[in-house]
This record gives sequence, structure tokens and C-alpha cells, in this order.
Amino acid sequence: MANTLVYIGLGANLAQPVQQLERAVVALQSIKDTELVQVSSFYGSKPMGPQDQPDYVNAVAALTTRLSADDLLTELQQIELEQGRQRKDERWGPRTLDLDILLFGDEVIQTEPLTVPHYGMKVREFVLYPLAELDLNLVLPDGTKLSELLTTVPLNGLSRL
Ligand code: ATP
Ligand code: MG
Ligand code: MG
Repeated sequence: MANTLVYIGLGANLAQPVQQLERAVVALQSIKDTELVQVSSFYGSKPMGPQDQPDYVNAVAALTTRLSADDLLTELQQIELEQGRQRKDERWGPRTLDLDILLFGDEVIQTEPLTVPHYGMKVREFVLYPLAELDLNLVLPDGTKLSELLTTVPLNGLSRL
């Protein structure tokens, strides 16, 4: 399979979130058939949804992989579980680690386990600003320019750690 450039969104707000992200970056480097290309700075951000939870730490990583998107998702979910992610009913509740596939090359994927580009990425400051650090000239599969999205999405308290 060809090498695909992939962007992963990392997030954590429990159990020493900076260390969770550092550990996740190490884990990403051990995924088979995959290389870590770049990691953004870490950012502090406000929670989405329920506000009675700690602030988040977020980052974006770029990988190249020869895995399929489905197989990569399985690997990411395994890392989440290894770092104590508990799946709860509450949407957007606190978590030790969240690893989302933001972009998988230019692919548009709408399957049962996977929606790519990630459905929320165009409106989430904690995705867009770290992503811009990696490639400000990025264009989404639908032709939307990252640089234009940045002009429409405020920082909402996002700060580089
Ligand atoms: P959000 O999706 O709003 O960021 P979340 O990341 O907390 O919320 P999860 O509980 O991590 O949601 O994932 C729920 C399901 O989303 C997963 O089981 C997975 O199958 C599905 N999913 C769909 N598209 C993606 C994607 N691009 N990256 C990761 N998971 C995805
Ligand atoms: Mg998420
Ligand atoms: Mg997720």
C-alpha cells in the first residue's frame, strides 16, 4: 500500500494530561508500518460540552502510514485503551487520551466506524491552530483552505503551553 500522510488529533484532560500526550507520541512511533513525521506544540484548551471537567491539553501529529484507515483507527484505539481510556455514555466527557484521525491523505471516508475528515475539525480551535503549525498551506479534500478556517474560528482561550 502507498504511504499516506495522516494528521492525528490528540487530547487529554485527566491523569496528568501533558504526560498522557507525551506517552501517546511515543506510542504513535511504535505503530507498525507507520512513521511519525512531526508533532505540534501542546496547547491548553477549554472543554467542549460539559464544563464541569478539567481543561484539555491538545496537539496534532503528522504520520505517514502504509496501513488502511480502518487499521490505523484500530491501532489508535488500542493506544487509548493502554492509557486507560474508559468509554462512557457521556459525550465529550473527561478522558485520559483521545486520538482522532483528522485527515487521511485526500481521502473522504464515510463508513460505520470512521468519518474522515473528522466531522468537527473545521470548527475546533484546538485542532485548527496546532494543525496550522504543521502546515499552514493545508487544503482539505473539499478545497477548504486551513488558512481561511483560521479566520473564522476564534482562539476561545486556546494557549500554547
Ligand atoms: P469527537 O468524535 O466529537 O471528537 P470523541 O473523540 O470523544 O468525540 P470517541 O469516543 O473517541 O469520540 O469515538 C467515538 C467513535 O468515533 C469511535 O468509536 C470511532 O469509531 C468513531 N470515529 C468516527 N470517525 C472517527 C475519526 N475520524 N477518528 C476517530 N474516531 C472516529
Ligand atoms: Mg475527539
Ligand atoms: Mg475520539
